[in-house]
Amino acid sequence: MRLRNKPWAKEELAKYPEIVVQRPDLHKGKWQELFGNCHPIHIEVGTGKGQFLTGMAQQYPNVNFIGIEKYETVLLTALERAKSLKLPNLRFLNEDVIDLLQFFETDDLSRVYINFTDPWPKNRHEKRRLTYKDFLALYEQLLKSDGEIHFKTDNQGLFEYSLESFSRFGLIIKNVSLNLHKSQFEGNIMTEYEEKFSKKGMRIYRCEASFKE
Ligand code: SAM
Repeated sequence: MRLRNKPWAKEELAKYPEIVVQRPDLHKGKWQELFGNCHPIHIEVGTGKGQFLTGMAQQYPNVNFIGIEKYETVLLTALERAKSLKLPNLRFLNEDVIDLLQFFETDDLSRVYINFTDPWPKNRHEKRRLTYKDFLALYEQLLKSDGEIHFKTDNQGLFEYSLESFSRFGLIIKNVSLNLHKSQFEGNIMTEYEEKFSKKGMRIYRCEASFKE
């Protein structure tokens, strides 16, 4: 993703702490207090411009959604979307997924969405893939025992790698779709990348995975 230099981006995000949480570490284990309810928490790692999570938050008012994006310039677009919608069940963190343990505690999460994550095709970059075993270990620590990972990508190589990575980690894989948009799956909310790639005729792969049966 090409990023324009916007040094004021961080300051702009900080002006809206009700949307972009400034000290997520202070809410560790207490996110339901921030949302003011006991609804389950779903996060999207590498949320990008927030189209998916904004759509999900509108469709599922009884779920709290948190999007995590490390680039502030990208998150600015998510902020713009969220500002006009004023959704009480949506927040963003301008953070790196690698630091998740600083912000969430065991059992804080019910679902992790991984959408169109960067494929990092070179073997030497495997550790950067958000479906690499070290990231799976993070998700496992934070998800409730019946929690799930929902994964979508346009990249066949990354999909195959991720299925293998899930399987090697002992995850139970279900609802695999090799062509999501031609499947029976209902209620799909498209991400920015999904919209872009499907317009070009590329197929979308999807699966769900859980740590326990
Ligand atoms: N999920 C969006 C979609 O489907 O349209 C964006 C996909 S984009 C290819 C991947 C996004 O993940 C980028 O915005 C990137 O900055 C973010 N990202 C990648 N690694 C990350 C990490 N370790 N922590 C936080 N964000 C990350």
